[in-house]
Parts: sequence; structure tokens; C-alpha cells
Amino acid sequence: MTANVKTLTVDCVVVGGGPAGLICGLMLARAGVETLVIEKHSDFLRDFRGDTIHPATQDLLAELGLLEDFLVLPHADMAQVTLRWNSDQLVLADFSHLPTSRRVISFMPQWEFLDLIARAGVREDGFTLLRSTEVTGVVTEAGQVVGVRTRSGDGDGEVRARLVIGADGRDSTVRRAVGLVPRTLANAMDVLWFRLPKVAAETLPFAQAGAGFVIAIDRGDGFQVAHAIPAGTWDASPEALIALRRRIARIAPELRARMESVGLDDLRLLRVRLERLPQWSARGVLCIGDAAHAMSPAGGVGINLAIQDAVAAARELGPVLRERTPSTRELRAIQRRRAWPAAAIQWIQQRIQPMLLADDPHSRPPLPLRLIDRFPVLARVPGHIIGMGLRPEHIRRRRTLRRMR
Ligand SMILES: Cc1cc2nc3c(=O)[nH]c(=O)nc-3n(C[C@H](O)[C@H](O)[C@H](O)COP(=O)(O)OP(=O)(O)OC[C@H]3O[C@@H](n4cnc5c(N)ncnc54)[C@H](O)[C@@H]3O)c2cc1C
Repeated sequence: MTANVKTLTVDCVVVGGGPAGLICGLMLARAGVETLVIEKHSDFLRDFRGDTIHPATQDLLAELGLLEDFLVLPHADMAQVTLRWNSDQLVLADFSHLPTSRRVISFMPQWEFLDLIARAGVREDGFTLLRSTEVTGVVTEAGQVVGVRTRSGDGDGEVRARLVIGADGRDSTVRRAVGLVPRTLANAMDVLWFRLPKVAAETLPFAQAGAGFVIAIDRGDGFQVAHAIPAGTWDASPEALIALRRRIARIAPELRARMESVGLDDLRLLRVRLERLPQWSARGVLCIGDAAHAMSPAGGVGINLAIQDAVAAARELGPVLRERTPSTRELRAIQRRRAWPAAAIQWIQQRIQPMLLADDPHSRPPLPLRLIDRFPVLARVPGHIIGMGLRPEHIRRRRTLRRMR
């Protein structure tokens, strides 16, 4: 199939080359479905995106035959999530008892991960990735979506397909085009991201809270730092920058001197949204990942959930798409399977967010965190929720997997 044509017909068009879209495209192509993934950016080099690949996702990579390739890419493993709450040091989640092949969260720049999946995709006959192409709307005939409209440097185009999968993130064009409106659960928090230089062999606590929330991800040559602030409070003024430097120095005194080198241009503001669609599908369209349920960074679980949606959708719809357009009932079955794990995690995130916004240098950790730290066996529960999600998916259905063993 050539990608550079004005009108194209495929079995399935996946809008968005993020974690959900690429995994879904790869699996559909492997199932014999001619699939086009459309990504508006020319590359995956977007910093300050989620970086965490969870144990359940690593099991999926093993099932896809990609785990070995994944492990040779630059990454850092974490077996426990620890938090420094003012002067208290706590263990919050423990992955060491998970029933997975790797019992760690791996931190990997998201572009490395997406490149890996895209490379695996283009090795498949039925997979095409169209970059630098934006989906601007859907094509509808007799109330049924039959494709998408695209815009790129080559001009406008149209792609016709049996199914449009909207994996285009929290500002999804696809869902807007078909009139699916998400329900807002909470917009309490924004996140400021910036990079700081690292002194050789230096380590920093991964997460610090109490006087304010800071995450420091070790990138080898520096730290990628995230700081949670109440939603809508950042005005990018010189005064706000001075206050930020002071706040970070109060939370993490070891960063005080380095904060002086951070200017307004070095800061990125990411607005956190917690939303979900009451209905994930319309005739000829299914939304998955953040397009169906925008996740907060709390717990760092959005990528894992988006990928699990993708796996369920591709596994269940792949055999159908080889033959025909999935029915409304078949599309709704994907929502039934995936909506409650997303809703339950969003419920937890809503309760965590106020802790991330705590702003008292004399506070003690909230009781649930102290209990988890006091009774280490309890840390396995958040370890399970973060590491596996609530309904881990597999490339093949469980019954089939068991029969194969
Ligand atoms: C500040 C912040 C930090 C986070 N940190 C983490 C973390 O550490 N770990 C974690 O697991 N989750 C994290 N998350 C959540 C995570 O980023 C998302 O849940 C996850 O990326 C969702 O994946 P997705 O594939 O559904 O959507 P996305 O990753 O948003 O991918 C959507 C893709 O679609 C493309 N696209 C959009 N519109 C169009 C269009 N019209 N045409 C063509 N292409 C289009 C976009 O360019 C993008 O590549 C974080 C979220 C925020 C806001």
C-alpha cells in the first residue's frame, strides 16, 4: 500500500500514534487487518510525556516478541515507589510480588518506546504509519462513519475504512467530530516540567511531598523534574518564577542552587485533565486510551491503561475487521470490558491529587500512607494496582493462553 495518495481505502484507520494507537495498529496488522495509523507529528520526540512502562505492559511486550528489543534500549528500573514526605521516608508501592515476568517499572523516554513499536509495525505487511498528517474530521454516509479527512504538507485527503479508532489523546478530534462529549471529573492540578543538570553519580529522591510535590526522573545526564501546582495558578510572570524557585528549594534543598539556572523559557506547563466519555463509540468509530478517559499523572498509569484498551480492542475486533465493519454491540463490548478499570483508577487518582497539592513543610504523611509504610505487606496493593492495572489484558484471551501452556 502506498501512503502518499489523496484517497486511500484500508480495513481500519487508527488516529494517533501514541501508545494506544501504535499498539493497536501493530496488533491489527498482525491479525491480517490492513491498518493505517495517522500521526500529526513528524516524530515522537515530545518530551515531558509519561515515561513509565509497567510490569503488565512489559508482559505484553514479551507476548508481542518485543521485550528483548525493549530491554536493550536506555531505561532505568524501579522495584519500589518511595516518597519523602517532609522528613519521613516512605515505601508506597512494592512490585516484588507481582505475577509478571519483570517486577519493576521501567522508565524510558516515551519516544524510544514509540519508535520500538513503530519499527515493529512497519515490519508487518498490513501496517502503514502516516506521519505529519493531521486528521481534521470524519467522513459520514447515512449516519455511519466511513473514514476520516486528513491534512498534510501534500494537501487534503480522505481515508476510508470499516472502522475509525480514535486514539488521538485527550483533545481527540475524532470524538469531537462524532459528537462524543467527555464528562469532567476534576481539573484540580497542573504540572510544571523542567530539566536540571545532574552532578556525576548523584541520586535524588524519586518523589517528595508535604511542602509541595516534586518528582525527579533520572535521565542519566540530568533530571527531568515535575512539580504539581493548583490548576490555573501559573501565570508565567517573573514573580511566579521566583516563587517557584523558592518553593522547589524548600521541598528539595539539594536543588536550590540549580533552580537559579531555570528561566521561564525552560518551563513547560501541562494541564492535567481527568475526564471520561460516557459512550466510547458511535457507528463506525471507537475511542480508546486518553481519548476515552484522560488520565492524571498521579500513579503514572495512563500509558498502561491506554495500551490495555488497545490490546482488548485489537484482539476482539481484529477477526471481525478482516471481514466487515464491527456492529454497535461489538464496539460497546470493548467499552464494557475497559470502562470500569479506567473509572476505578480515576476514582483513586481523584483521591490522590489533593495529597500532591499539600503545601505544609511541617505536615506528617496522611494516615493511609503511614499505614502502608508501617505494614510493608500493604505496599503490595498499590504495587498491584500501579503495576498491573485492574484488568490486565493479554494478546490472546486467557483461556487460549492456558491451553497453549
Ligand atoms: C503531565 C502528565 C504526565 C504524565 N505522566 C505519565 C507517566 O509518567 N506515566 C503514565 O503512564 N502516564 C502518564 N500520563 C498520562 C499519559 O500521558 C496518557 O494517559 C497516555 O499518553 C495516553 O496514551 P494515548 O495513546 O491514549 O494518547 P496520547 O499519548 O496523547 O497520544 C495521542 C497521539 O495522537 C496524536 N494526535 C492527536 N490529535 C491528532 C489528529 N487530529 N491527527 C493525528 N494525530 C493526532 C498525538 O500527536 C499523539 O501522538 C501523564 C499525563 C500528563 C498530563
